[in-house]
Amino acid sequence: MKVLAIGECMAELAPSNAAGAFNLGFAGDTFNTAWYLAQTAPDLQVSYLTAVGDDTISNDMRAFIVASGISDTHIRTIPGETVGLYLIHLDNGERSFSYWRSQSAAKQLALDVEALDRAIADADLIYYSGISLAILDAASREALLDALRRGRELGKTVAFDTNLRPRLWASADEMKDTITRAAAQSDIILPSFDDEADWFGDADINATLERYAQSGASQIIVKNGEKSVLFSQGDARDEVTVEPAADVVDTTAAGDSFNAGVLSGLLLEGDLAAGIKRGCQLAGFVVRHRGALIPVDGADLS
Ligand code: ADP
Repeated sequence: MKVLAIGECMAELAPSNAAGAFNLGFAGDTFNTAWYLAQTAPDLQVSYLTAVGDDTISNDMRAFIVASGISDTHIRTIPGETVGLYLIHLDNGERSFSYWRSQSAAKQLALDVEALDRAIADADLIYYSGISLAILDAASREALLDALRRGRELGKTVAFDTNLRPRLWASADEMKDTITRAAAQSDIILPSFDDEADWFGDADINATLERYAQSGASQIIVKNGEKSVLFSQGDARDEVTVEPAADVVDTTAAGDSFNAGVLSGLLLEGDLAAGIKRGCQLAGFVVRHRGALIPVDGADLS
């Protein structure tokens, strides 16, 4: 089974133990999911579609992606460009972020439509997010949505994490309109209730699920932090209880790692509930550690 994740991977500068020093890493929402898939599901072939530059940091990122067991076949190199960067500030244990991503090559990931079509045709499941759309200009957004529509016509499965990030959009209305249209052409939707309530005004988790159910997606999985995950398969509704972690240190990539559990469970076992349980175990492990990409050797994913 082949998974293609589409989006932006960024360079990350995270504070190290030495005062004033930072460690360089690479992360980004859809990339994190690809990374957890590659870590936890060796039977899947995972590929990442993005665009990078031809400078040293771009080459380092590509090398990291390949070393993580993720194919770089669908990563475009754009001469003269570079990758986005974010820096994590730690202030009394509270994390905040500064971003430098307006010049990121990833904004050009959908310019080569033939390459996009080839990459999608080469996959069984395509995974992307609201952030993958938010970073693109209007024409590229439509090009990506069109390519995904053609992919579905070929029988590909499209999985979409709505990942609402209003600061990346020109307006809340543009975000909501585009996310709703993208959801309407997805098979699997993976929203997080608190963000959806903030921006779509959903009164409760059922409202989030039913709003997306109207779009016709066959499987909708609504995350809700340490509370139960609500999900639908066609007309059926059910939930999976989350075991709250007592010792949460950092919820970065909770949703991204959860999504990897869900997708690998679906693809390898054909069982959505089993995938959600796997997602809960994986995310429950990740929130107990600092950082986005946590080696999972010690996680119980049985
Ligand atoms: P996002 O990171 O996308 O906002 P959530 O915060 O809803 O997503 O969390 C995603 C998943 O991570 C949850 O469904 C749950 O499985 C797991 N998770 C999040 N917070 C906790 C917690 N405190 N204890 C255990 N698991 C958690």
